[in-house]
Amino acid sequence: MSKNIAIIGSGFSSLSAACYLAQKGHQVCIFEKNKNTGGRASQLKKDGFTFDMGPSWYWMPDVFEKFFKDFNHKVSDFYTLEKLNPAYKVVFSNSEISIEDTPEKIINTFESIEKGSGKALRNFLKEAEDNYNIAIKDLVYNPGVSPLELITPQTAIRVGQFFSTITKKVQKKVKDPRLRSILEFPVLFLGAKPCDTPAFYSFMNHADFSLGTWQPKGGMYSVVSAMTSLAKSLGVAFRCNTPIKKIRVDDTGKVLGITTNTDENINFDTVLSGADYHHSEQLLDIQWRQYSEKYWLKKTFAPSSLLYYVGFNTKLQNITHHNLFFDTDFEKHAEEIYDKPQWPTQPLFYANFTSVTDPNTAPEGCENAFFLVPVAPGLKDTKEIQDKYFERILKRLEKHTGQDLEKHIIFKENFGVSDFTQRYNSYKGNAYGMANTLLQTAFLRPKLKSKKVKNLFFTGQLTVPGPGVPPSIISGKLVADLIDAS
Ligand SMILES: Cc1cc2nc3c(=O)[nH]c(=O)nc-3n(C[C@H](O)[C@H](O)[C@H](O)COP(=O)(O)OP(=O)(O)OC[C@H]3O[C@@H](n4cnc5c(N)ncnc54)[C@H](O)[C@@H]3O)c2cc1C
Repeated sequence: MSKNIAIIGSGFSSLSAACYLAQKGHQVCIFEKNKNTGGRASQLKKDGFTFDMGPSWYWMPDVFEKFFKDFNHKVSDFYTLEKLNPAYKVVFSNSEISIEDTPEKIINTFESIEKGSGKALRNFLKEAEDNYNIAIKDLVYNPGVSPLELITPQTAIRVGQFFSTITKKVQKKVKDPRLRSILEFPVLFLGAKPCDTPAFYSFMNHADFSLGTWQPKGGMYSVVSAMTSLAKSLGVAFRCNTPIKKIRVDDTGKVLGITTNTDENINFDTVLSGADYHHSEQLLDIQWRQYSEKYWLKKTFAPSSLLYYVGFNTKLQNITHHNLFFDTDFEKHAEEIYDKPQWPTQPLFYANFTSVTDPNTAPEGCENAFFLVPVAPGLKDTKEIQDKYFERILKRLEKHTGQDLEKHIIFKENFGVSDFTQRYNSYKGNAYGMANTLLQTAFLRPKLKSKKVKNLFFTGQLTVPGPGVPPSIISGKLVADLIDAS
């Protein structure tokens, strides 16, 4: 039977759910607090420069292809993809390593740095591919309802990988600390320290080295535009600039509808929230919330970030599209994010220059730059603190490029912990949701379906399967299936 469904938020998970629900014949209306769709994947345009405000790594192209195929489309019907070569570069204190676009080239790079590491990497990647085939083609499409979802003949023989960690696995394979950090890097996307992330998640290394790093022409926002137009073509209605302030529930515990910030009450059969889970529950009267403040406080959240969007009026030397500055102590920085949350002493950072491969994202002769410094969620930031960190990373960039860059800055926009809270209603200003640790995997994550309110559902990076654009798209499909079957 066709349902009338309200979706709160328009991030990837909500857009995905909206498409699947509309395809199944339901009436769907998306309510988004901000001016445009896309959530954390918003776009900033300024003085001829174009920036992706959040995600910038397009990994797991198969997940995007599968999504569009479910609607009888191909990715190429909506946007063009380019495989990046080098995929990225990692800058260390006295050297740098480029990661190229095929496993064979990367294996050769490893071997040239540490004898024997090429063979070790080949074996590691074989296992990573097997894990990918189990995880991304199968396990992540489970709704996280029961522990039994994780028990299959393939996982049973790999049970040790759930109780060992990525760090332990990597340390067995290579000795060079630079190679170790390159192999540990992909799981940072899952939001926890590699020493707290199960070894099974090595499937992220398959995504990194074997499937490659891609760039949609026009940036990640092209994916948002594609999913928004697909949703519209399927009949989904959009109301942007419409924050929801309440999810209404009747006395029997059944959802009634939503109330907008202008006190408009609209009734719906079903409400799905793709806003941050903690915030979504705050929209309910207290008796209808499933998880207490204590519950959320105990959870491991992915880091927040200090972000900078910068326009340079010159081209930068010795950079590539994606650059990881691992020129400081990773252990110390990780400790300052997770173990003793505080402002980092010497943070690692990430620098992205899309104008290196897509000239349309900056005026001629200019470079657009997006910098990301991971920091602990919940810190109180000010413009002064943000600017202090920018000065520090700019110095490191200047050292790396050999250029005096400060005088070439046309503008700089900051985005910090408090902006995540204000713009996205993010819990503690987290940037990418709740981490995938062993105890926060699958059925142990906050549920897609409310246990207390009938016809209320949740989706997105705080629920199943976890953080990142591909998991958010999958989350939308999972919840749409649950709603359709309810
Ligand atoms: C800086 C950064 C870098 C990242 N890099 C990568 C990357 O390179 N690759 C990758 O795969 N992933 C990356 N991620 C993660 C990825 O962007 C997210 O996992 C994904 O976009 C989350 O989608 P979502 O649908 O769960 O939530 P969101 O995108 O947060 O969407 C939630 C939406 O709900 C809206 N909302 C909130 N409250 C209300 C309300 N009361 N009423 C109405 N609307 C409301 C918000 O405005 C928002 O639009 C990154 C994230 C960040 C922040």
